[in-house]
Amino acid sequence: MMNIKTLENIEYEGNSQTSILESARNSGYNFEYSCENGQCGVCKTSLLKGEVIELQDQVALSGVEIANNRILTCCCAPKTDVLIDAVELSALAGIEIKTLPVRINSIMKVSRNIIEVELRLPPTASLNFLEGQFIDVIGPNGVRRSYSIANMADEKTIKLYIKKVEQGVLSKYWFNEAKKSDLLRIEGPKGTFFFRGKCKKIVCLATGTGIAPIKSILDRLDKQHGCGNELEVALYWGNRSREDFFWQPSCKNLNVNYYSVLSRGDDSWQGRVGYVQDVAGEDIQDYNDTEVYACGSLQMIESAKKALTARGLPDTRFYADAFVSS
Ligand SMILES: Cc1cc2nc3c(=O)[nH]c(=O)nc-3n(C[C@H](O)[C@H](O)[C@H](O)COP(=O)(O)OP(=O)(O)OC[C@H]3O[C@@H](n4cnc5c(N)ncnc54)[C@H](O)[C@@H]3O)c2cc1C
Repeated sequence: MMNIKTLENIEYEGNSQTSILESARNSGYNFEYSCENGQCGVCKTSLLKGEVIELQDQVALSGVEIANNRILTCCCAPKTDVLIDAVELSALAGIEIKTLPVRINSIMKVSRNIIEVELRLPPTASLNFLEGQFIDVIGPNGVRRSYSIANMADEKTIKLYIKKVEQGVLSKYWFNEAKKSDLLRIEGPKGTFFFRGKCKKIVCLATGTGIAPIKSILDRLDKQHGCGNELEVALYWGNRSREDFFWQPSCKNLNVNYYSVLSRGDDSWQGRVGYVQDVAGEDIQDYNDTEVYACGSLQMIESAKKALTARGLPDTRFYADAFVSS
């Protein structure tokens, strides 16, 4: 057994076969994470003392980061006692990750290659989550993929927006075989993409179905009148094709400036043109009291983080969920 300690003086036990992240969870602590396979980089932290064993490839780390003792807590187990600078997320205390059976309630095509799937829990079951989190769906033959929850936690069903990936294993099921009442399993809620509420100015960046957790967060803020009234929200949603804008915000209490952004416009397109991170970067002059929520492609997230932090956004105010493949 090894001792894992953080700068906040959280201490727990780990071992050489279990990731630092998973051991934390087993001890009731939550650190930032998303994909858990080394690709997204959300769980990046600094190793301040001790040594680790790499359990899986730390794809999201650059050579410079490795040289500077940066590690991914989802990929590394302790080899000795370690000290890390991960921050505990107390907002997730009491949110239990469960495996539950679900049935498909409905499947609806919302654009050429996107479906809305509604899942129904058993009458006696419930899923407590923070808006912005995702679930793993375990489909036929045990194939597991992550999908962000698009609705609020107090609704009876779970809504997902799923994009067709050519040759995709679970895409094949969703787009060719899935039907009402099919029985699946879900595991969740997962991830640490949820509203932190530290700032008054909120910038949301989404590409494609990355709008799902942003919708969930905005719906929740809209419902919480008091909080919503004080916030200024800008939402930039990017798609390749105009028919992929299958939703738009309809907030009653929340002040949302919404910009639909086509990567390549044409003469009849009334919205903005370009990449969401560039369009948002052109608009935002001042990053004081601002936090950014970005969800969708890894490319957008990496580019947005680089561009916005270079203009003055502290990187601790940039929250992201990258839809990387499993
Ligand atoms: C935290 C998280 C949340 C997610 N939430 C959503 C969501 O709400 N909605 C949603 O549609 N997806 C979401 N995803 C992506 C989803 O989990 C799957 O990766 C995706 O649906 C492809 O699964 P598949 O089985 O169809 O394809 P796979 O069999 O996994 O992949 C087939 C091939 O396509 C490639 N590929 C996989 N994904 C993509 C992609 N997006 N673009 C291009 N090539 C790709 C793979 O590398 C592989 O070569 C999320 C992923 C993560 C990590």
